[in-house]
Amino acid sequence: MAKISFIGLGNMGTPMARNLLKAGHELTVFDISVTAMDKLVADGARKAQSAAKSISNADYVISMLPAGRHVKQLYLGDDQLLETASQEGTAIFIDSSTIEADVSQDIERVARAKGISFVDAPVSGGVGGAISGTLAFMVGGSKKDFDLVKPVLETMGRNIFHAGESGAGQIAKACNNMLLGILMAGTSETLNMGIRNGLDPGVLSQIMKKSSGGNWVLEAYNPVPGIMNGVPSSNNYQGGFQVNLMHKDLGLAMELSQKSVSPTPLGSQASSLYALHKSKGYGSLDFSSIYELYNESDVDK
Ligand code: NAD
Repeated sequence: MAKISFIGLGNMGTPMARNLLKAGHELTVFDISVTAMDKLVADGARKAQSAAKSISNADYVISMLPAGRHVKQLYLGDDQLLETASQEGTAIFIDSSTIEADVSQDIERVARAKGISFVDAPVSGGVGGAISGTLAFMVGGSKKDFDLVKPVLETMGRNIFHAGESGAGQIAKACNNMLLGILMAGTSETLNMGIRNGLDPGVLSQIMKKSSGGNWVLEAYNPVPGIMNGVPSSNNYQGGFQVNLMHKDLGLAMELSQKSVSPTPLGSQASSLYALHKSKGYGSLDFSSIYELYNESDVDK
């Protein structure tokens, strides 16, 4: 079993770290929130006084932080993780946060110059997937590093993909979430039009699921309250994947589109729609609440 340091114990990091413990790995954790660390200590992890201290003797270091600026600070800024690692030894670094591909690539370049391996490995599957250990990991890095990290990622996920070289995992994640944002907005728009023209949304959903408009949103995440059990729309849009995170991810996709001069008119519309929804105070609701932007009913914030 491996010695693993896990940094960032939020909604995703906590269940991911728990699955590593369940698999028998020796875990040291760090988070700026002591409460978050204490929960993992109760499950058998050791807590460290700082990020740098958490990586001592680690075979693998996994980070799961909110955004690029946190990850940059951890590896290259005040926390000095790469500097500490270059003095300490041979850990391999896995960043599973969803961040800008160029930030991942900058960190990987500095790591490589110090003889350290760093891969980007963002995830899809949400908090549910993190709890059940069924996440999809999209890994950017060399084939050799991919082969090294795959067994560890398999204790937290079901589908582990090698997307390509450094940064490719982040690019794949931005592509996936741009399509998801478009699908959710398009499905919400369509269902709302059907309802306003007198259709039962449950019947319309069944029809489209089995017709050429069928998609993952209709199959697994219907945005209209009361159509599907166990999804955020049937729980006042609580839980699930926040509008704030979808807004962030669409911003990452728009940066990629700008940089590569890729036309993304639909992605850009989706990005504006989520910005509007967030600006109305719905940032902490699940992203399927975009349906309420069309429906304009008063959902609780
Ligand atoms: P979160 O905000 O719940 O957790 C982030 C954690 O990082 C917090 O516990 C915070 O205290 C900690 N943290 C922040 N700065 C730190 C630092 N410098 N050192 C140590 N700890 C620090 O976020 P989350 O929902 O767990 O998401 C994490 C990442 O996963 C994000 O990049 C997000 O986009 C991505 N993601 C989230 C979901 C989801 O459904 N929540 C799904 C897929 C991907």
